[in-house]
Amino acid sequence: MRRKLAAGNWKMNGTTISLTEAENLAKAYTSPSVDLLICPPSTLLSRLSETLGNSPIATGGQDCHAATSGAHTGDVSAEMLKDSGATYVILGHSERRDTYDEESEEVRAKAGTAMENGLTAVVCLGESLAQREANNTLDIIGGQLAGSVPDGATGENLVIAYEPVWAIGTGLVPTLEQIAEVHGFIRERLIRRFGEETGNAIRILYGGSVKAANATEIFSVADVDGALVGGASLKASDFSGIIDAL
Ligand code: 13P
Repeated sequence: MRRKLAAGNWKMNGTTISLTEAENLAKAYTSPSVDLLICPPSTLLSRLSETLGNSPIATGGQDCHAATSGAHTGDVSAEMLKDSGATYVILGHSERRDTYDEESEEVRAKAGTAMENGLTAVVCLGESLAQREANNTLDIIGGQLAGSVPDGATGENLVIAYEPVWAIGTGLVPTLEQIAEVHGFIRERLIRRFGEETGNAIRILYGGSVKAANATEIFSVADVDGALVGGASLKASDFSGIIDAL
């Protein structure tokens, strides 16, 4: 049985004051029935991990370099994230695939390094609107999945997040049928590659304009094991509405 996961991606938002939101969340969820995760900007990671140290809420990075260390100005390594208290790292987010031309091969290398360092990689996949309109969604998702996930993935070290690019920050959400189709397809591919047991153990999150108001119906879809939430994860009161729907 897969345990549900509510993950917040703060993106490039948050300063010291934001730690209060995390504290409020920790007060509200002392023994949650689902896994909770916040991925703040790297400037806040250590402090957030300390703030949440005695709570069941995990912390994660939003990216890491594929190399262990070295001359990579501005980058952070998987080891540094781990050292800052993180247990997860988001990789291959569409905002990075787009802005930094990150290809699946690079995401796979990053995920491999993350796993070697004991982090759970949250690997993001998603089609653009043009790709969906051209009926290429499953081809794109299948290609990103095969290319971005390293061998040796397990239910513990890998989470997949399906985030249609056109649904991120737009208020647009796919139909429940569209979500079911993609999540079912990802599940089938995971089983085909990693076998029945591992393929069924890997969690698949939906992300893209998830709000308290639409969370219940999205979570009712088969193979939706939780959500990767952007905007609505910044405030404890908004995020709670989504967590409670799980
Ligand atoms: P929004 O929830 O703001 O649409 O962002 C989704 C996302 O990109 C999470 O990684």
